[in-house]
Amino acid sequence: MANEPVNKLQSAVTRTTAAIGIKTSVFMESAKIKTHISTLKKEIDTLISELGTMVYTSWENDELVMEQINIHCEQIKAKYINIEELTQEIEKLETQEKEVFGKKKAEESVNAANVAATQYVCSSCNTTYQSPVKFCGKCGTKMS
Ligand SMILES: [Zn+2]
Repeated sequence: MANEPVNKLQSAVTRTTAAIGIKTSVFMESAKIKTHISTLKKEIDTLISELGTMVYTSWENDELVMEQINIHCEQIKAKYINIEELTQEIEKLETQEKEVFGKKKAEESVNAANVAATQYVCSSCNTTYQSPVKFCGKCGTKMS
């Protein structure tokens, strides 16, 4: 019973550590997705530049190779869709993170309030104790 406030404090510390863990993994996950998106964007640039060369060569040779152009356009489209999905995934991760953090913060402050409420304060010198003590360790005032 005497240890209860200390345990509360420890669980608050554990919770903070868990929240930091979530933040780190969300950060790493979204960094990974962002790298993937920039790779896709580079691939799109390459495809578009190839497409330009292809169209120009077709025009110069007076024969339009629609089939190859179509394949290129479809690849580009697929990559744009992929980017959109990945962007949504990042947004989802960030929303999740905010929700988790909002909850943690609310819990944290309730916890802090509980710990503060169960502190034992010396009426003479204001030294606080996490568990009840008979005499203040600092000034010797009788406390319980
Ligand atoms: Zn005291």
